[in-house]
Amino acid sequence: MAVKSVALVAHDNKKRELVDWVSENRTRFASLRLYASGTTGRLLKEDLGRDDIVCLLSGPLGGDQQIGAKIAEGEIDLLVFFWDPLEPQPHDPDIKALLRIAALWNIPVACNRATAEFILTSAYMTDDQHQPKKPDFSSYTGRPVN
Ligand code: PGA
Repeated sequence: MAVKSVALVAHDNKKRELVDWVSENRTRFASLRLYASGTTGRLLKEDLGRDDIVCLLSGPLGGDQQIGAKIAEGEIDLLVFFWDPLEPQPHDPDIKALLRIAALWNIPVACNRATAEFILTSAYMTDDQHQPKKPDFSSYTGRPVN
């Protein structure tokens, strides 16, 4: 069975909510490959006792961009990104870029717990046959440019 890869990111005021949610669903997460931005990943490792979580750089130090690059390279199947709607972030352009690249590549994105629950419990999560349609950018990449 193909292992699905999930990227997990939470802003500071949302980290406890994300860690608690992942912890409550640890059985479902056990079969998933996990990537996380630096601090989120550290907290997840501590809480879950899992040392196989791939921790990238902290979000404001480039971690969001690293996750975006992995999405563009087809390495991520699901983005769970609990961003904070009440707090301005120094890396706002990176956040926007990450959400943009996930939309561009047709990756499911959960920005809150309710959506994350819907996606995590979806039959598609365990269905090997189901792959979201990969966008075809050939008309863009092959466009005439002067
Ligand atoms: P962090 O990054 O997990 O390193 O705090 C999250 C973010 O993008 O702000």
